[in-house]
Order: sequence, then structure tokens, then C-alpha cells
Amino acid sequence: MKIGLVREIKNNENRVALTPGGVKELAGHGHQVLVESRAGEGSGFDDSQYTQAGGIVMTDKAELFGQADLIVKVKEPVASEYELFKPGQALFAYLHLSADLPLTRMMLEKRLAGIAFETVRLPNGQLPLLAPMSEVAGRMSVQIGASLLQKNNGGMGILLGGVPGVNRAEVVIIGGGVVGTNAAKMAIGAGANVTILDVDKSRLVYLDDIFGGKVTTLICNDYNVGEAVKRADLLIGAVLIPGAKAPKIVKESAVMTMKRGSVIVDVAVDQGGSIETVDRVTTHDNPYYEKHGVVHYSVANMPGAVPRTSTFALEAAMLPYLVKLANKGIKPALAEHPDLRLGLNTYEGAVTCRPVADSLGFAY
Ligand code: NAD
Repeated sequence: MKIGLVREIKNNENRVALTPGGVKELAGHGHQVLVESRAGEGSGFDDSQYTQAGGIVMTDKAELFGQADLIVKVKEPVASEYELFKPGQALFAYLHLSADLPLTRMMLEKRLAGIAFETVRLPNGQLPLLAPMSEVAGRMSVQIGASLLQKNNGGMGILLGGVPGVNRAEVVIIGGGVVGTNAAKMAIGAGANVTILDVDKSRLVYLDDIFGGKVTTLICNDYNVGEAVKRADLLIGAVLIPGAKAPKIVKESAVMTMKRGSVIVDVAVDQGGSIETVDRVTTHDNPYYEKHGVVHYSVANMPGAVPRTSTFALEAAMLPYLVKLANKGIKPALAEHPDLRLGLNTYEGAVTCRPVADSLGFAY
């Protein structure tokens, strides 16, 4: 198969879908990877590394789209890329079609086989191509929180782990899924006292087991949230109800009980935020603001700040699926692998993913 690897042109997007290692793997299976010149620049890979890996570096983007059977990229195509797709081509990327009618229309008109990273789903409900970014964001949340707790960044001026003879910081994490678990790992590693709240009792049992008593787990109800938030130095929002807006778990009145100079990192801001005082989405250029004396961080694309780690993390999860698509061909691969089939959002001019059809008013 001819696979086109294109350079991301969305604002501030520095990830790339394949590293030179990924290109080498595909070339080893007998596939041709057409690599747009400078595709890997933002993640620290230059054209010569792709050539050495067996890729064919091309400067003419239109020519690359014209030749490829499948386009692999990170983010959904932007409007200026629409005309480059050829009829019947396959596209494998984060697509988020439910919120993007123009892109969906283009994909239907061109009868693209659109496979969305975010809807590939395992039988147990896990989303294997979303999880890597949650792992990154979860780990970053503590790194960022630690830095914002410094006095020079607006925080109260404490270390997460304290030092011998001095209190450790209190880190409170709301939601013990992928983000929450990775945040807990980092916070425990830094020496903080860690509390995780979740509505799912079985999840709390699991967290208690894996962290071997190094975390306090609490059922998430108004009382427990209120008490935990009051003592938090660093509060991390990490809840998710799949497909829905995040519930506002922490009320403004609870934030008002927090200490001056404490910090909130609401990772769930991409789903609307789980903390009432998170009333805006911030950017990497201007990431935080202060409200009720508390430093708030609410960047919706946290992994964007660490594109190299994020690129490797995404590729590790995504490449096995891409190899299946390339080795077997699109249709047989989708037929054989139900998890990949759930990733299919558009096919031969029809919407093939129910939530997308429902959101945009298409037949399913
Ligand atoms: P996940 O499904 O793995 O975990 C979510 C957890 O929230 C689950 O354990 C669930 O039981 C719990 N939960 C649901 N409702 C709750 C409630 N009312 N109270 C307490 N807990 C509740 O999801 P995830 O992958 O960890 O993602 C968490 C959030 O982080 C999502 O909104 C996701 O979109 C977001 N995210 C943001 C970024 C970013 O850059 N800002 C990056 C990655 C993920």
C-alpha cells in the first residue's frame, strides 16, 4: 500500500503521525511511505531520518495526496487540505466529526474511508488511541501543578514532597481513570499526599490495589469533594462521562474554601471542565489565571507542549492498527477487527458511526 504521511498545518500542532521508526516498520512490511518534507520537524525528526528509514520524502503535497492510498495524520484535515483528497482514499487520524460538518461533508462527497483514532474501541470499552494522550496529560498535570505552586508563578510557594521535617503537599484528583491514575503516579513519585475521588467503586478498589496504600481513595460525593478540596494544595480535574459534557463536580463555593496560592489544573476542560471556576479555555501561550486567590490552569491540548513524547506515545498505540490496514487492505482489515471497525466514521459516501450521524443529523 502507498501511505501518505503529511505535515500537520493546524495552529501549534507539532506532533507527527509516524516517527522514522514507524516508517521503517511499514517499509519492512513492503509498503511505500510517502513523507511530506518537514513532516517530523516539530517533533525533532528531519527528512534525512525518514529517508534512511525507507520513506520517500516529497515536497509536493498535492502529488503526495494524489499518489497515496491512505493518508495518516494526527489532527483532522483543515479546510485548505480538503481539495487534496482523492475519491475513495482512506484517512486515519483524530477526526472529531461530530463537531465538524464541513469536514464530514467533504469526506462523504469524496467517499473517503475515514477511520477516526478517537472511536477505535476495545471490547471492554477502552479507547486505545485516546489513552496515550490522557497518559501524557495526566503526567503533565502534576508537573505543571508543581511549577505553578512556586511563588514566582503565582502559587503559595511550596514543594510537592516537602522536605524532611516539613509537610508534604496535598494533591487531590477528581476522576481516577487514565488521566487520574497517571497524575497519581507522578504525585506519589514527587512525595505528595494523594487523594483520588471517583464515583466508580470498582475503580477505587483497583487504584487502592495498584498503589498499595500510597493513595487515599474516596467515593465522589458532595461531602467528600468539599472536604478534600478544602485541604488541597493542588486540585486536578480528571473526570469523563464518554461523549458527554463534563459534570461540574467542584462548585465555586468549594473553590472559595481553598488556600490562597493553591492550584487547580482542570484536565477535563476539553469536555467543558469539571470545576465551576474553570470558565475559560486557556492556551500554552497564556496558560493560567487567578480566581478567588487560586491559580487556575485550563489548557485543552496539554500534550501539544510535549510533541515529541506525544508523537512516540501515539505511534506506539496506533502503528499496529495502521500495519493491519496496510497489510490486509482497508475493507478486509475492518471486517476482521471489530475494534478498528468501530473507528470507521465514513465509508463510500455514508456516515458509519452512530454518534456522528446523530450529532450531525445524517442517516445511519
Ligand atoms: P477515563 O474515562 O479514563 O476516566 C474518567 C474517570 O472519571 C472514570 O474513572 C470515571 O469513573 C470518573 N468519573 C465519571 N464521572 C465522575 C464523577 N461524577 N465524579 C468522579 N469521577 C467521575 O478518562 P480519561 O482518559 O482519564 O480523561 C479524563 C478527561 O481528561 C477527559 O475529559 C479527557 O477528554 C480529558 N483530557 C484532556 C486533555 C487535555 O489536554 N486537556 C488530554 C487528554 C485527556
